[in-house]
Amino acid sequence: MSTVKCVGILTSGGDAPGMNAAIRAVTRSAIYNGVRVKGIYRGFKGLILDEIEEFKTQNVSNIIQRGGTILKTARCGEFKTPEGRKQAYDKLQEHGIDALIAMGGDGTLTGARIFAQEFNFPIVGLPGTIDNDLYGTDTTIGYDTALNTIMECVDKIRDTATSHDRLFFVEVMGRDAGFLALNGAIASGAEAAIIPEISLEKDQLAEMIETGFRKSKNSSIVLVAESEITGGAMGVAERVKKEYPQFDVRVSILGHLQRGGSPTAQDRILATRMGVAAIDALLDDQRNVMIGIQNDQIVNVPFSKAIKNDKPINRDLLYTLRVSSI
Ligand code: ATP
Repeated sequence: MSTVKCVGILTSGGDAPGMNAAIRAVTRSAIYNGVRVKGIYRGFKGLILDEIEEFKTQNVSNIIQRGGTILKTARCGEFKTPEGRKQAYDKLQEHGIDALIAMGGDGTLTGARIFAQEFNFPIVGLPGTIDNDLYGTDTTIGYDTALNTIMECVDKIRDTATSHDRLFFVEVMGRDAGFLALNGAIASGAEAAIIPEISLEKDQLAEMIETGFRKSKNSSIVLVAESEITGGAMGVAERVKKEYPQFDVRVSILGHLQRGGSPTAQDRILATRMGVAAIDALLDDQRNVMIGIQNDQIVNVPFSKAIKNDKPINRDLLYTLRVSSI
């Protein structure tokens, strides 16, 4: 018999489409198993500031299709200090919350891990980030929706790119990970992707131009992952203007629209499976794990692995993109 009687749920860091589907699944799965649920607003900040409300099944009605997070999210500097985490712990005690589900990216899980160790408190993490940069899970909640948004945007940019014979650099999110740029490029039929993982190894721009990537084409679209390592789309475009002035270059930075929108079926299903699995894990006395998905199977990944390791990109995809864009 599990000792968990009341679970808190929060979303933290950047929002991602599908977070609401996960909140819904966690809430309903907890109640189904006779466990009370408390929604904690604004991430660790709301926990410290006591923004906590008991959730019933109707609190999560009609949200599966909504982007963002009904729990709101925030960055919280105080949680990085021992004093801030002690305040958070006291609030959990006050509210009778004996386990926590924290959904967010790398930072959120890092904070959760430190807190869990410090107070010997049961926490299960859910990978909620469009960047897909968490190790131990094939995909994260929000990634598929963001990828679809990028694809739709690039389809539109292509119309103008081809009308004017232009070279477009389209900047997409991803922090220091190239998943959105690389798969976005494949999905939208872009000519190339400039991603941080490869920028560290070679000059992708020079290689792209020197191999004559647009010999057979009038217009080209290149996806660039936002990152100091790649220089972002602006950085790459500046270089082209200086080093290859023959190109008519344009830049489009997709920005925050990549985070928004109604989650895709895939994200809703992933979030729902993961939300249910998070409660199962707590009831099974699993501690300090992130729920992941590998080969369509739900897995529990120790925080130490999920956070410490960099998730590698699948290098076959580079070849796929190159071959399919000649
Ligand atoms: P995204 O990938 O979408 O940016 P994230 O979860 O990585 O999401 P962060 O801003 O890095 O976003 O982290 C969210 C919150 O997690 C921080 O505001 C802070 O409260 C907490 N956090 C991050 N790192 C730590 C840490 N080292 N110690 C304690 N708490 C942390």
